[in-house]
Amino acid sequence: MQQYDFDVIICGGGPCGSACAMGFVDTSIRVAVIEKSSFPREKVCGDGMAPYIPKALHKMSPKFKDAFDQFRERIPIRYIKVVNSKGKSATQAFPEPWFVASRYHFDDFLYRQASALPNVSYLLEEQVTMVSTDASAAIVQTNKQQYRAKMLIGCDGASSIVGRQLSHCRLDPANNYAAVRAYYEQVEDVLPDTFEFHPVPQHPSGYFWIFPSEAGRANVGFSILSEDLQRKNLKLREVLPQIIAQTPHLNQRFKNARLLGDIKGWSIPVGYGHYPISGERYLLAGDAASVADPLTGEGIGQAIVTGRIAAAHALNCFSANDFSAAFMKKYDAAVAQKWGAQNRRRRLLSHLIQYQWIINTIVALLRSSTVLSKLVLWVLTKIAR
Ligand SMILES: Cc1cc2nc3c(=O)[nH]c(=O)nc-3n(C[C@H](O)[C@H](O)[C@H](O)COP(=O)(O)OP(=O)(O)OC[C@H]3O[C@@H](n4cnc5c(N)ncnc54)[C@H](O)[C@@H]3O)c2cc1C
Repeated sequence: MQQYDFDVIICGGGPCGSACAMGFVDTSIRVAVIEKSSFPREKVCGDGMAPYIPKALHKMSPKFKDAFDQFRERIPIRYIKVVNSKGKSATQAFPEPWFVASRYHFDDFLYRQASALPNVSYLLEEQVTMVSTDASAAIVQTNKQQYRAKMLIGCDGASSIVGRQLSHCRLDPANNYAAVRAYYEQVEDVLPDTFEFHPVPQHPSGYFWIFPSEAGRANVGFSILSEDLQRKNLKLREVLPQIIAQTPHLNQRFKNARLLGDIKGWSIPVGYGHYPISGERYLLAGDAASVADPLTGEGIGQAIVTGRIAAAHALNCFSANDFSAAFMKKYDAAVAQKWGAQNRRRRLLSHLIQYQWIINTIVALLRSSTVLSKLVLWVLTKIAR
């Protein structure tokens, strides 16, 4: 008889890992989430959340969606504003509201939902250092001890140890955004229900953003393709204040602003499809599977959805008692069906909007509110979805 410490080990307890654990609700599968931090904890992020997140929570259990409805720190976002380099802007209403909530609160919210499940244990402040799988088990070595499980799910983010050791993925500068964010107070004219995107002509592969945040603060950040960052030899933490200083309409709005804490950076991997996301006894999900949006760098919703799909597939593995690499391909197919085509369209759009004249034309058309502007909006929405 094989001895297992757990049925499933989830490496990483961010949105992906906690959503994945929540996917085992109302089952008897024994799940451990190994997380190197404890909650609440910060995560560098723009904190913007897609409207389908409550639906994804509902799919796992209505009680998770009800809990999200009660989650006080979320702020609904109803508009998107694109501001071109001359300060001209166009604002559009979202068909459904987005949200912002600091990751300090949101990741803790998900952790509380998942850790309340009787079959889920969190091993906090424990770091996974080595993983392997074979026909009989997944072996997970941490800084404290070794565990055996029937299956391993890598939800350990952009520098996933599971991805590096089992799928041999490496940071790919052509398919990775480097991004920084900072919290400011007293930025002028920050609308409490609007995401602002500012394409930056000197860095066309990325953008600058201002999102409203808790207590009247602003989440301000900048992203750029890592290959551009390397080619231009830029220091990302210095670029954010430079953009503010060099852009007259931003400079004006930040004249009384105060930086709260540090400017912090991290990676957003968008290279989905460039390495395997499954194999014998393991799956990768969220940033570990590089499923973030190649257009915006948004990855919280993708992390939650792929976490949910990974849990659903793991349940199929237990039903079929099949943990082979061939059976895991059904997971790859489910992820591809959800994100594959959309990801390709949004990658194409990300290349198009690097041209300033395209941005300027879109902003001008959307400001004009003519039949043509409605047509442009319709086409853009079709490509983006
Ligand atoms: C500057 C910036 C701005 C962004 N803005 C947005 C935004 O506005 N909206 C959006 O949707 N997305 C945004 N993203 C992307 C988003 O942050 C990620 O896509 C999302 O966090 C992915 O979730 P995840 O659970 O897969 O990974 P993570 O959130 O990174 O969670 C991984 C977890 O694994 C743990 N871990 C890692 N290694 C180990 C280990 N060896 N052992 C144990 N635990 C481990 C970590 O501590 C962490 O808790 C942004 C990213 C950046 C960098």
